[in-house]
This record gives sequence, C-alpha cells and structure tokens, in this order.
Amino acid sequence: MSEIATTQGSGSELSQRYAGALMNTFGPPQRVLVRGEGAYVWDADGARYLDLLGGIAVNALGQAHPTLVSAVAAQLGTLGHVSNFFATPTQITLAERLLELAQAPAGSRVFFTNSGTEANEAALKMIRVHGRARGTSRVLALEGAFHGRTMGALALTHKAAYREPFEPLPGGVEHVPFDDVAALEAAFEAGGVAGLVVEPVQGEAGVRSPAPGYLAAARELATRHDALLVLDEVQTGVGRCGEWLSHHAQEIGGGIVPDVVTLAKGLGGGIPVGAVIAYGEGPGTLFGPGNHGTTFGGNPVAAAAALATIHVIERDGLLAHVRQLGRSWRAALSAADPRVAAVRGHGLLIAVELDAPIAAHVQTAALAAGFIVNAPTPTSLRLAPPLVLTAEQAASFTAALPAAIDAGARAAARQETS
Ligand SMILES: *Cc1c(COP(=O)(O)O)cnc(C)c1O
Repeated sequence: MSEIATTQGSGSELSQRYAGALMNTFGPPQRVLVRGEGAYVWDADGARYLDLLGGIAVNALGQAHPTLVSAVAAQLGTLGHVSNFFATPTQITLAERLLELAQAPAGSRVFFTNSGTEANEAALKMIRVHGRARGTSRVLALEGAFHGRTMGALALTHKAAYREPFEPLPGGVEHVPFDDVAALEAAFEAGGVAGLVVEPVQGEAGVRSPAPGYLAAARELATRHDALLVLDEVQTGVGRCGEWLSHHAQEIGGGIVPDVVTLAKGLGGGIPVGAVIAYGEGPGTLFGPGNHGTTFGGNPVAAAAALATIHVIERDGLLAHVRQLGRSWRAALSAADPRVAAVRGHGLLIAVELDAPIAAHVQTAALAAGFIVNAPTPTSLRLAPPLVLTAEQAASFTAALPAAIDAGARAAARQETS
C-alpha cells in the first residue's frame, strides 16, 4: 500500500464527494471501486463483481496481472519518462512488435498516442495531408460511428447528442449509411474523397459489424479513388475479437490491407497508450518533422505495459482462448432466455440483444447481482470482459441472465406506471 493515502469511506460517502468535486460528465458513478484481481473488482462497501466490461474493453489481462504490474514497476524504476527528443529501447521494441503483429509491409511506421481519440485525431490529420497533395478533402465515416471526443475525432463521430453542443466541428466529414456499399460507392463517385474511416465492428453502436465483404469493397473504392482507408481498431484490436487486429479475421476483414489502423483501449492492459499504424512507405511518411507531436505518447512506462500485455496474450494463447470462449459463450447466451432476441459479436466483444428496450434496467439488475455489463443501446447489453475470463466465469453470467432480465423488466414496468 502506498504511504500517499487516499481517504476512504463508504460507497455513498464517496459518491457524494465525487458529485462535489468532479464534473458531471458521466452521470453518477454506479459504484466506487477500490481493488481488483483478475476479472473481479470490489467496491468500497466490500461487494465483489465479475467485470464483464473490463473498463470498456481495456483490461485485457484483468486487474493486477503480475506480469503487467512487474513490467510497469520495473520500467518506472529504471526510466519513467523522456521527451520525444529522445528515444527508448522500450518504445522502439513496441513499435517493431506492433508492425509485426499488424502484418504491416516494409516501410510501415507507428506513431504513439495516449488514447483512442488522439490516435484518430492523428489519422484525420494524415488524411488531410494525403488529400492536400491530391486536391481532395472530403472525409467519409459511417452512420453510427464512434471515434472519440476531441474536435477532429468528434467530427468523425456520428451521434448528434455528442456533436451538436460543440459545433462548428472541423469540416469536410460526411456520414454514409452503415453497411451500404452502394451508398459508399456513390459518395466516392462524387469525387474529392481523401479518406474513409471505419470501425470493423461498431462497439458503441451496439457491437454491429458490416456484412462480410464490406471492408473489401471499401478497400477497393479507396484504392480506386486514391483515398486512405483508416480502420479504427481502438475497441476491436489487440485480441479483443480473437485476432491481433479484428480485420485479420476473414469474416470481418476479408484479407484486406488497410492504410492506417488506430489502436488504444486494450493495448496497455489498463495503462493509457494508443497507436497509429501506417501501412507502407506512403502512409508511413505522411507525417514529417514538425507535423505532429505529443508529450506523453510513446513514453517508456506505457510502452512497457503494452509489451507486457502483448507478451501475456501470446504466452498464454489468449487469441485462441478468446475465439473458443467467445463462440461457446455466444451460443450459450443465445439459448439462455427467450427474451434474448439475438447475440452478436466476435471473440469477447459481444452484444446481447433483448426483445424490449429495457437494457439499462437489466444492466442495473445485473450489477446488483454482481455482474458489470453495459447497455450501449436501449435494447442491447455489451460484454467486453478481460481476455483471461474463464469459461466458468462466463457461465456464471449466463446462469444469472434470466433473473437479471426479470428484474430489469419489472423495473422498466414500474417506471412506466409511476
Ligand atoms: C473508445 C473508442 C474511441 C475513443 O478512445 P478514447 O481512448 O476514449 O479516447 C475511439 N474509437 C473507438 C472505436 C472506441 O471504441
């Protein structure tokens, strides 16, 4: 335990203090959490939860993984931060590892960031640079897209409630209908497109993927029109969908090679780190000296966390585990309750679609029963647990789901009549 004590208290005391000291950007916290181990976390009142959200697809190795903890501590005890006027072996090794895992061709390059939104911000700037040399500036993104909250990333994000308070946003971004190749083709045919940004699986929109073949069509159109194809793998990358990058799965990517991939969430196993991977010499050299920068991005502690996360995924065969557990769990969830209308997803990025708009109530009921899940849409529950989740842990939620749906349905009915 640190000698720098944070004051303790009950969950309700701490929640009150939260409301008095933090901006209300997230609504009231569901619980105040004090510690974790593997896929479990404990709240300030001592209750234990199976964390099936993993800090929103972040905690790939769960909490307090010994390999991650010792890698971060060792790096911090050796060299904690240097500016980007200097390099570190840790950062260089991580860049090389990412290029390898991405199966990126010769000439490819990496830029490090601290978050997903920053990675997408950088990708948008790369699209601008690419377009500037070609006299193009239109940027295409998809309806339902979520790419982050900084102004450029927000311009790529589709949801009106996130965008409107902050308009005017950087111009030139157009949203095309989701999973509609004809609409995409028409948007390209109109001319002047510099880049297209796509999530291989839209996580925030409720874990939905375009039909197989969509990314291949997008690749073909982007190539034909000399535009950059950017894949936002911030949520789907680093093993989440059972491959290092989700588009490596044949049914998602169809074998395409993108121009740019953005990563963050799971990359550092909980330590903030993001990356932009530019494929090949052209995209890899869009940014030159002075074009872009960051103070913290690529710092050795974050890089050590990412290397440790990648090491454990590889050493423990977690990609295969994620594919197998994901497949069997989705089948079990589909059969768990007649009110489960569908189960979507890849690997351990899963949505349970309910037959009524009660997902927020089911989320609350699940929490009371000791399971952290989230409702990205009124009808769906999202599961993005640590990749180390066991089959027994997954099964415990499947068994608890019918009662959580019961309780959620009752709460929804009470709210309607009150
Ligand atoms: C979470 C997310 C982002 C934003 O990442 P932050 O680290 O929160 O800035 C961007 N794109 C996708 C697909 C995401 O899921």
